Amino acid sequence: MQRIVVLGAGFAGLWSAIGAARALDERGIGADQMEVVVVNATPWHSVRVRNYEADLSGVRVPLADVLGPIGVRLVVADIVDLSVSDRTITCIAAGGPTQLAYDRMVFCLGSRLVRPPIPGLREHAFDVDTYEAAMRLRAHLAGLAREPRSSGQATVLVIGAGLTGIEVAAEMPGRLAAVMADHPQARPRVILADRAQRIGSDMGEGACSVIAEALTALHVETRAAVEVAAIDAGGATLTGGERIDASTVVWCAGMAASPLTANFPVARDRSGRLAVKPSLKIEGLSAEFAAGDAAWFAIDGAHSCVMSCQHGRPMGRFAGHNVVCDLLGEPMLALNIDWYTTILDLGPWGAVYTEGWDRRVVARGAVAKRTKETINRQRIYPPTSRDRQEILAAAAPIVQKPPSYAQPAAAP
Ligand SMILES: Cc1cc2nc3c(=O)[nH]c(=O)nc-3n(C[C@H](O)[C@H](O)[C@H](O)COP(=O)(O)OP(=O)(O)OC[C@H]3O[C@@H](n4cnc5c(N)ncnc54)[C@H](O)[C@@H]3O)c2cc1C
Repeated sequence: MQRIVVLGAGFAGLWSAIGAARALDERGIGADQMEVVVVNATPWHSVRVRNYEADLSGVRVPLADVLGPIGVRLVVADIVDLSVSDRTITCIAAGGPTQLAYDRMVFCLGSRLVRPPIPGLREHAFDVDTYEAAMRLRAHLAGLAREPRSSGQATVLVIGAGLTGIEVAAEMPGRLAAVMADHPQARPRVILADRAQRIGSDMGEGACSVIAEALTALHVETRAAVEVAAIDAGGATLTGGERIDASTVVWCAGMAASPLTANFPVARDRSGRLAVKPSLKIEGLSAEFAAGDAAWFAIDGAHSCVMSCQHGRPMGRFAGHNVVCDLLGEPMLALNIDWYTTILDLGPWGAVYTEGWDRRVVARGAVAKRTKETINRQRIYPPTSRDRQEILAAAAPIVQKPPSYAQPAAAP
């Protein structure tokens, strides 16, 4: 029996596993000949992109509901080591350390928040990188009103105005108002800070002004070109010595690929990502594939794929299909996606939808928000019906169309 091991069950890993199961099913190959095993730290598929939302119910899907009906084995364990030369994975499961040999591997351990050595950051800053971290932030906010009164009690300082930081900040006025509703004397305040000269500059000129309009409407204060020197339980100190009192500091600055990418005897990019071919096989290796945030290649032949579920899901579907083809000596498919979009949530104000690598704004406000909600609550979810055929069909190695949006009909 041959074994395909998929590491991680996020957007790339879950879809790799389903893609591999689909390719085996299509060829009539049973689990007695080729086994697909997924190793993940938790028994959940976490819809990580929703961690900035106030309501976190439904952001985790039980992996057993998706993998069980398609005959994929799930191992819940922390992967602590891997050896390409021995083709083995070492993990710590509930029963202790265990090793798993593979014939082919798909590496999908994703990315994690970068935490630079700023004094107090690890101890005092919150984040939304994982479900657990988002729940910790949620519990902290819920307890704010019970804290002794202080100048920063109702202030949230969000550091890092990339896409995640903007989404977190845009939700915060509403979340703060809700938890401080019985304390009218406390003035909720949200500050979004970044070292860049302009807030939202990553999103391009057109979207930047939409973001500014939304943040102003939501009363989110912005601080560009600032550097945080230290964080403590009561707030942050900037490099120039300025103090910002805030009982809640949320760190949203920077992502890096899983540190286990260092175990591969190949070069990595500056985010720690492994270079892969359009087949998703790791450049320079023969039995190892990678997909999602831990991998990069020119997704349209010119632009590097982006750490995103937008790219992670199709990378997973193609990696899963190709890993089976590779084992069987069949030709593999090349992934090429000729479109790129960004749909940024701007809280109760709405959202902004851009198309293309130059990020042209095509929809904004409530229109873009409808698209964002469809993406976050439907498009990126695996089927939860437990229907084997429906689950397998969803992993076909094809490229979806961009998410649609509809402008309201013009008044007659
Ligand atoms: C708040 C937020 C908002 C975002 N918004 C968007 C958005 O709007 N659009 C978009 O496209 N992208 C967005 N992203 C990025 C997106 O979430 C990631 O690009 C995506 O999750 C990457 O998928 P992945 O499968 O590579 O990694 P992940 O989804 O991170 O999955 C990795 C999996 O591996 C597991 N794992 C990791 N290490 C180990 C280990 N050592 N042992 C065992 N298991 C392990 C994890 O538990 C996880 O299940 C957002 C991210 C965040 C945090």
